[in-house]
Amino acid sequence: MQTFTIGLIIWCTEAMTLAAVLFLAWRHDAQRSAYLAWALGFALSAVGFGLVAARGLVPDLLSIEIANAVALLGESAWIAGFHRMDKRRLEWSSLLPPAIWLAGIGLPWIHESFANRVFLYDLAGAVGATLLAGAVRPTEGRREPVRRQLCFVFTALACLCLASSLSMLLLQPGPELAPVYRAYSALGCALLITAAIALSGRLLMESSERRWRTVSITDMLTGVLNRRGLQNYFPLVAEKAARESRKIAALLFDLDHFKAINDRYGHQSGDVVLAEFARIGRQFMPRGAVFGRMGGEEFIAFIAVQDQAEAEAVAETVRADFCRAPLPAGRSMVPATVSIGLAIMPCDIATWDRLVSAADRALYAAKRSGRNCTIVFDEMEAAMAGDQPLDPDGGALVPTLDDQIHALRRLGTLAKM
Ligand code: GH3
Ligand code: MG
Ligand code: MG
Repeated sequence: MQTFTIGLIIWCTEAMTLAAVLFLAWRHDAQRSAYLAWALGFALSAVGFGLVAARGLVPDLLSIEIANAVALLGESAWIAGFHRMDKRRLEWSSLLPPAIWLAGIGLPWIHESFANRVFLYDLAGAVGATLLAGAVRPTEGRREPVRRQLCFVFTALACLCLASSLSMLLLQPGPELAPVYRAYSALGCALLITAAIALSGRLLMESSERRWRTVSITDMLTGVLNRRGLQNYFPLVAEKAARESRKIAALLFDLDHFKAINDRYGHQSGDVVLAEFARIGRQFMPRGAVFGRMGGEEFIAFIAVQDQAEAEAVAETVRADFCRAPLPAGRSMVPATVSIGLAIMPCDIATWDRLVSAADRALYAAKRSGRNCTIVFDEMEAAMAGDQPLDPDGGALVPTLDDQIHALRRLGTLAKM
């Protein structure tokens, strides 16, 4: 048996194994349609090259026209797989490799000569490899280094296919030399494809790790950071505050009488209220702030601020927007409000524990002051909060937006008198 045929059979076995593994991976996680596309691609490649290897045993139509079209269709499926991996729509251009082959193989000068058939096949292969490089290229938001490496390998594959294609066309090697040239270029392509498979595996592993990491730090009900995520990202706010010589503010939000909301409107409506609060909280967070759910009906934000007024403004905006937000539960509206404990510290003494404990004490004072308000523990109170016994009347009550509007109205009335 010819060495080239043995090479083809080895490739068929490997491709079929990869197709089976990818198919099982897709069965395990059917949302990942890229796996199915790649499985199909390897299966088509195995069938195509299997038919090429069966030359002489099957009719030429099968081992030439159909075999190469099927192998190139496999390349189209790989391109489609990379589009699906990035959740992009499939593109008709993915079908170019088999289309180029089918369009050219009917021409007698190509059909009759082995060198010209290799020219056409490698030209189609070069177009396919270029499309593969385009499909994996790093774009805005997808800047993993492995993508750049994969893009480089596909570009090298495209160059090799093009070089092989042009050399067959221009040199027109005879019937003895042409298979030798072919064997060398096929070996080079096989090596590059093996490298691409290894890099694709790494790309998938890294994206899967990122996915699980996101899941592990996200609160599933509200979509904001969970406690672990908050603890992971807190150092970023501390670094930003230190870099910009700012203070760190902790805003601890606790929804008021939430147990009563659950009891009266049902747990599901309670969940809707939590999700809506998270949406509002996230909407009003300044750039670089970290916001998430501490647990139950408690949320927290860490913000690098210039002064206390800046932190108060964020707290009051969230509070005022939330108590006015329409929260439908069946035919009625849920009257939900939030109390906020705010602690502010210079970044050299601010730690997670100190800030949370001070904000917790300020929150306790907010609840005692009648709820739906913000209480601030300034630097001194916040710094002492961890060491001192709880003073339930400590902290300053922030005038609410409503208070300020009333005050302005009163001033207006006084002015008219
Ligand atoms: P306060 O104004 O003093 O904070 O009173 P509260 O009722 O809000 O506080 P309490 O701690 O007594 O009750 C919190 C409730 O939050 C109890 C719990 O059932 C509810 N809760 C916690 N997690 C969830 C959740 O994920 N969904 C819903 N619907 N309710 C939750
Ligand atoms: Mg609570
Ligand atoms: Mg509560």
